[in-house]
Amino acid sequence: MSLIYKRSSALFNEAKEYIPGGVNSPVRAFNAVGGDPVYVKSAKGAYLQTEDGHEIIDYIASWGPMILGHAFEPVVTAVQEAASKGTSYGMPTALETEIAKLAVSMAPHIDQIRMVNSGTEACMSAVRLARGFTGRDKIVKFAGCYHGHSDSFLIQAGSGAVTFGSPNSPGVTAGTAKDTLLASYNNLAHVEELFVNNPEQIACIIIEPIAGNMGCIVPQDGFLEGLRHLCDQHGALLIFDEVMTGFRLARGGAQETTGVRADIVTYGKVIGGGLPVGAFAARQEIMNHLAPLGPVYQAGTLSGNPLAMSAGLAMLTHLNNHPEVYDDLAQKTEQLHLGIQDVLIEKGIAHQINRYSSMMSVHFCDEPVIDFETAVAGNNDWFKKYFHGLLERGIYLPPSAFESYFLNNALSEKDITRTIQATREVVASW
Ligand SMILES: *Cc1c(COP(=O)(O)O)cnc(C)c1O
Repeated sequence: MSLIYKRSSALFNEAKEYIPGGVNSPVRAFNAVGGDPVYVKSAKGAYLQTEDGHEIIDYIASWGPMILGHAFEPVVTAVQEAASKGTSYGMPTALETEIAKLAVSMAPHIDQIRMVNSGTEACMSAVRLARGFTGRDKIVKFAGCYHGHSDSFLIQAGSGAVTFGSPNSPGVTAGTAKDTLLASYNNLAHVEELFVNNPEQIACIIIEPIAGNMGCIVPQDGFLEGLRHLCDQHGALLIFDEVMTGFRLARGGAQETTGVRADIVTYGKVIGGGLPVGAFAARQEIMNHLAPLGPVYQAGTLSGNPLAMSAGLAMLTHLNNHPEVYDDLAQKTEQLHLGIQDVLIEKGIAHQINRYSSMMSVHFCDEPVIDFETAVAGNNDWFKKYFHGLLERGIYLPPSAFESYFLNNALSEKDITRTIQATREVVASW
């Protein structure tokens, strides 16, 4: 049985007439894997209903937010109730304090949090705050890490940017680019060198503490601790971009699981429960520099809007009260990892599987994948074949080798067994 996505293709062709490339975010367009994207009609739990009438298993969870599965009841109810009371006021609400209080109690080393509307905005604002706080201009980012599409970050930005062959996007001025210093993930000596060569000029290091935008890449022992040390030594701030990992790896995100303290943390994805939300947080001393308290300006007409805050609050409340979700997710991810690994070993197919909590990626290559360079060395033709083979069997993986799988807790053991079986069928002919 091989599923066909005919209506999706027709819808995509129509979309292309009115929307650039047919999509509102590039990775959705399937350029990395070929073919036409799948159109979703609705979703519930671990399953997507496509416009073609197929029910398929979802391994992207809207790129992270739907950690508890789609249309999770408490979130849906919260949004419905909020909508009936008006969708935006441009005035403060008690709800905003409630979610801020909860978020700050869940994650370590943060006193205050400011809500914005996307992960991009969160990272952009966090860097401005770091520059304002330190009075320095330069930032260090890692090749293959993605921090949204703001100008300073579109320098070897992983996933979408790599897929589209424009690691350095036109439209980013040389003036902006020169303030972004590029380092290699897991290479502490490289970062140290940047500090030595740019004395008292580096405002911050921004990093995905567990990288997810060049596939999943895990920090090696001592790497994050080393960055912490370098920042302390040179008076720079350490920004953890936890847009992907925040509230996904654990209640306290990567700060909790790695035990490394960040100075500023950015959030997105899970914190909005599937609505457009981002946030950045830090200790009081740093947040005091933000308007209206301090001179670093940042604002938003729809920031903290009641629909988004209601969804986020319902999501975080559930996670806070049910931390066992994280163990369940890690266990399911391990089951998937081991199952796929067995199949690939059996067939003698070169591969590396990286996994951390509920993030995972399969790379078709021999060498360990520890940074951007080793990530791009994977066999993309095999990835494409694997992706489409699974899609024909009703399983949706991220449509790029440079994206992490995101498991959701609605996935059953049966779904995972089915995914492993589908893998066996797909590689049987390789
Ligand atoms: C998704 C993501 C972003 C950008 O968030 P948007 O809401 O898409 O703007 C930033 N950083 C990381 C690590 C991400 O995964």
